[in-house]
Amino acid sequence: MSDPVAELMTILEARIAEQKERKAREEAEAARRVPRLIARYLTLAGEAMRDAALAVTVTEIDRDERGGGVYTTVAACGGCPDTDRFPWGDYDYGNRWSELTGQQRAEARAREWAQAHAETCRAMSLPEAP
Ligand SMILES: [Zn+2]
Repeated sequence: MSDPVAELMTILEARIAEQKERKAREEAEAARRVPRLIARYLTLAGEAMRDAALAVTVTEIDRDERGGGVYTTVAACGGCPDTDRFPWGDYDYGNRWSELTGQQRAEARAREWAQAHAETCRAMSLPEAP
């Protein structure tokens, strides 16, 4: 003879596990869509003005604006319009001397670019319009 309470508990536990799994999937999906901030480099002007917004950010995106599978590390200056993209595929060449992935190489190049740009960028944000 089966226990109806135990059966109900089993069904409820399965439902809860299902919901947790769905929530985890949705969160992982959302995290993939959002650009992931990797680093910020304060610019020369940012340092002088003590303005943290004047920084070069390095972010990873693994989805482009149109939903395509574009895997890219982007370096963008917060003080001027300068920006550069480092698509992981461009750095994904086989290299038997290195264990680094295209993503890691792209990040290294993006960080170099960001560092070099931050050291020289004197662009400042415009004063707010009255
Ligand atoms: Zn700049």
